Amino acid sequence: MVRDLEPPVETCYFPRDDYIDVDVKLIAKPDFDAAQLAGLGAAICYRGKYPEKSLQVAMDGRHYSVLEHANYTFEITHLSRVALAQLTRHRIASYSVESQRYVGQDTHQVIIPTSFNKDALIMNKFYEGMKILINAYQEGLEKGYPKEDLRYFLPQGIETTLLVTMNARELRHFFELRCCNRAQWEIRRLADKMLAICKEASPELFADAGPACVRGKCPEGKHSCGKPRDDLMGII
Ligand SMILES: Cc1cc2nc3c(=O)[nH]c(=O)nc-3n(C[C@H](O)[C@H](O)[C@H](O)COP(=O)(O)OP(=O)(O)OC[C@H]3O[C@@H](n4cnc5c(N)ncnc54)[C@H](O)[C@@H]3O)c2cc1C
Repeated sequence: MVRDLEPPVETCYFPRDDYIDVDVKLIAKPDFDAAQLAGLGAAICYRGKYPEKSLQVAMDGRHYSVLEHANYTFEITHLSRVALAQLTRHRIASYSVESQRYVGQDTHQVIIPTSFNKDALIMNKFYEGMKILINAYQEGLEKGYPKEDLRYFLPQGIETTLLVTMNARELRHFFELRCCNRAQWEIRRLADKMLAICKEASPELFADAGPACVRGKCPEGKHSCGKPRDDLMGII
């Protein structure tokens, strides 16, 4: 459907006819094996009472503070500011986000929800809206207006790049909320990718991570989607 649209030619807006998926890379994880690190925390707590099993005892007892010693840093690209606003609601984390104050937007990559694909009229309106805003931004730059003011023109769908660091406890909490089918699709897509990375990096800490439905009963009551995320159970 998108390919049927006449691409706007006289605009700085770069129309996309394909979907560029959010990209996540694990930049850093503990030098020390994360499970060993958390296990050391647990072993100190239990003073050697459960040799070899301290971590399991801590996890079974929901003694999750031992997970806070293990930090993971992700570089995220192709994420919209819409999803960024949801991500940064998670407070037990550190963020470094590309500045719209100091960095001029030279490319204008906008996330286009795939739901628009089935309606050429709404897709055209989306393009038109983007064109107006982005042309105004570009014109303002040429006239020397400060970027910190011009960014008010930028749409929420515009892409950004960031670095985020979370510890294993916060990541498990994040996955519980954001891998759930009730979470919005873009943040859920990001959370799913981060979960897959964490499961591979530290299976001992993330094997059972994800929304509550991967461990048992859904807590969403009448809001439950009724579709447990079986797809997450298979990933590494
Ligand atoms: C499906 C869904 C819909 C949502 N809809 C909305 C919405 O309509 N409007 C809206 O504003 N937000 C919405 N949110 C965001 C939500 O309210 C939370 O802000 C967000 O999920 C961050 O979660 P959190 O506060 O548990 O966690 P984090 O900030 O990740 O903190 C982790 C945990 O630390 C503890 N904690 C952190 N800070 C404090 C504190 N100051 N005091 C006490 N305990 C603390 C809490 O136990 C918290 O669960 C939505 C989230 C989801 C998943």
